[in-house]
Amino acid sequence: MSQSSPPAIGIDLGTTFSALARIDDRGRPITVVNAEGDLLTPSVVLFDGDDIVVGKEALKAVATEADRVAECSKRDVGHRVYHKLIEGKQYPPEVVEALILNKLRVDAGKQIGPVSKAVVTVPAYFDEVRRKATEDAGYMAGLEVLDIINEPTAAAVAFGFQQGYLDDEGSSAAPRNVLVYDLGGGTFDVTVMQIRGAEFNALATDGDVRLGGYDWDQRLVDLAAERFIAAGGDDPREDPVSAGKLWRECEDAKRTLSARQKATVACHHRGASRRIEIARNEFEETTQDLLDRTRFTTVQALKAAGLHWNDLDRVLLVGGSTRMPMVREMLRRLSGMEPDDSVSADEAVAHGAALRASLILARQNGLTPALKIRNVNSHSLGVVGLDPLTRRRRNGILIPRNTRLPVTGKRIFKTHKTGQRSILVEIVEGESPSADDCTPIGRCSIRNLPSGLPARHPVEVLFQYASNGRLKVRVELPETNRRVETEFVRETGLSKESLDAWRKSICGLPPGKRN
Ligand code: AMP
Repeated sequence: MSQSSPPAIGIDLGTTFSALARIDDRGRPITVVNAEGDLLTPSVVLFDGDDIVVGKEALKAVATEADRVAECSKRDVGHRVYHKLIEGKQYPPEVVEALILNKLRVDAGKQIGPVSKAVVTVPAYFDEVRRKATEDAGYMAGLEVLDIINEPTAAAVAFGFQQGYLDDEGSSAAPRNVLVYDLGGGTFDVTVMQIRGAEFNALATDGDVRLGGYDWDQRLVDLAAERFIAAGGDDPREDPVSAGKLWRECEDAKRTLSARQKATVACHHRGASRRIEIARNEFEETTQDLLDRTRFTTVQALKAAGLHWNDLDRVLLVGGSTRMPMVREMLRRLSGMEPDDSVSADEAVAHGAALRASLILARQNGLTPALKIRNVNSHSLGVVGLDPLTRRRRNGILIPRNTRLPVTGKRIFKTHKTGQRSILVEIVEGESPSADDCTPIGRCSIRNLPSGLPARHPVEVLFQYASNGRLKVRVELPETNRRVETEFVRETGLSKESLDAWRKSICGLPPGKRN
């Protein structure tokens, strides 16, 4: 593959599994297998001294070397450090994500030539901080992230491609309303989309970044452990090795329960062994509240889109956990239609991302892309203000959630006193009126205001959400033509220096361009 035509790559960086897809010579998305020959790579990293092992082998080590293994790092993205120490060290979660991306990049490179440009997907419900961290992970893995797109949108694009919608003339095609229900390993997303030919418009999105198949596994672990204890054993969850083994057994049993009415879990702890039988209805009973949470969110999203169930043309199932019969049954009852699982639950997201990548590359090569994607923001954007009565920190919402992107919100601040030279603006994402219950994005310090401004002089601050949900801040001074410096200091995230140092150690590449 020549440098001038890099392959169009899409990466689904999942909580439990990841996949990489490319566009083949006939313009169709296909999944590229990893070095082990598998379509899916477990998103698990084993730190074995200086050796880093990612994927299947690392997953095996969960049961025996739990303290050296990082799994589900995607759940921690946006936090400063991964939730547990690995060999006594703290790692930023995006570094763990970068190690996974790097394996995907290197493995794919061996088959299809150097891979450098990719579209990476994120849950629609990821906030700005998590989106930035995901882009950073791509950078540290030696990738140029062409775009970050939402997983349900990517799945809908793959679905549209499969249905032949992309060939329809956008404006003349009949609009189809599709609800994408995406329950993966660690996150839940629901997005209502309107597809009109090759135009994909998100109408509303909602979700939970800490709800997924992993929680169903945990419940099964608890059920099995309690039965083990009731039969006279000690609690296997107290020992990391017994707990790790039990977790693997339970994840396996969960998959069996998707196909059969009963499954058996083997539990070994402190010399005692027992086979525990679990029936599907027991599993469904113990996880009913988790399913209810997804139902509640789904109903909310449909309402936010201004639609009723009978306005929908399809309910699209995405994500490995939608294989659980309880999910399909719940959606069938709610929507009155058979949920559509025609796209591959595991590969659709990567395929949609690869289609997106091919269109971005086409545009870079001067061709007009046929595909149009319009997103909405998944969290309201606000600035922190002080309530004059209660003196509490208040979230002044500037751009409400589910607003069509790209969008610019403007807030006019006033200088407090004569000759004031700087203003500090705190930015948050979230729905709560209390700023302290929202996610801090960062602080924007507006410096070098022209000298001699009178008190109460207006300063316009413009917040711009790009189509990928990333934020930029700009400042304008009406009535003056002076340039004002804005420095946007993020609350969390790695500095450019740390990113470069990690990039060097992960993929051996020198510093590159990074915003
Ligand atoms: P994803 O993030 O979309 O790859 O989904 C991974 C999740 O799907 C994991 O929690 C898996 O345990 C779960 N999963 C995969 N296959 C099945 C199945 N047959 N039944 C239930 N859950 C499954």
